[in-house]
Amino acid sequence: MPELPEVETLRRDLLLHLPDERVAGVEVLRSDSVGYPADPAVFSKQMIGQVFSDRMLRRGKYLLLYFKQGTALGVHLRMSGRLLWRRAEAPLEPHARVRIPMASGHELRFEDMRVFGRLWLIPVGVPPERVMGGLARLGPEPFAEMFDGQYLAGRFAGRNQPVKSALLDQQLVAGVGNIYADEALFSSGIHPALPVGGLDAAALERLHRAVVKVLEAGIAQRGATLRNYTDAQGMNGNYAGTAWVYGRKGQPCRVCHTPIERIRLAGRSTHFCPTCQCAQQSVQ
Ligand SMILES: [Zn+2]
Repeated sequence: MPELPEVETLRRDLLLHLPDERVAGVEVLRSDSVGYPADPAVFSKQMIGQVFSDRMLRRGKYLLLYFKQGTALGVHLRMSGRLLWRRAEAPLEPHARVRIPMASGHELRFEDMRVFGRLWLIPVGVPPERVMGGLARLGPEPFAEMFDGQYLAGRFAGRNQPVKSALLDQQLVAGVGNIYADEALFSSGIHPALPVGGLDAAALERLHRAVVKVLEAGIAQRGATLRNYTDAQGMNGNYAGTAWVYGRKGQPCRVCHTPIERIRLAGRSTHFCPTCQCAQQSVQ
């Protein structure tokens, strides 16, 4: 599943391709993939003729790709969505849901095997959160100044939810998913099942720094899960190969050589080192 580093990588790559591209047509192959306007014919008609600008924003795992006319294409990839930049004549992917051919002969394609992802066309002057409901409920960006140990202390006080589950809550902090939550907890030496209310100020400081650090590392390595959405560049993410714990069940911890364990927490598979993360002490 794409996480924040993959979506940020996608945003940066789209910035290389989309500005000044004029939409020549829109073909909705699966109407479920379009969130707004709900009628695919209206969605298509309103986008044709629009020209992409260089204003492309990411908020959590949402993307907002603005047109010069002031409208914006909102995107959430969810489980399996991908945005692909192709030549129009390139063979169509089996799970292509929306095709957006440009006047230049290129094409932006939305591919989504599981059909949980969405595209929205946000009219001029309408706040995006009015159209994309999840946007209004997002917590702060992990790179925002207000996201720090003190913020976590305030949000965690008196609660006994496992820290791993709390990190996945997009209302706490936007964009942290399963991979980076596990990595951040390892990096801060915190056991994923510890109740958030019991973490002291030093542990919360370490956790805050670790969340920022692992997301930055993920962005630097072009993300963990996103694959070849353009044909022009090698797009495979590299993070999975360097993960501390994620996806490494049974393999030796890179710090202490204890086999990495996997448990389920809040329905999500959770990887940790039972030695390095036995308590609140830091491993680094
Ligand atoms: Zn270890």
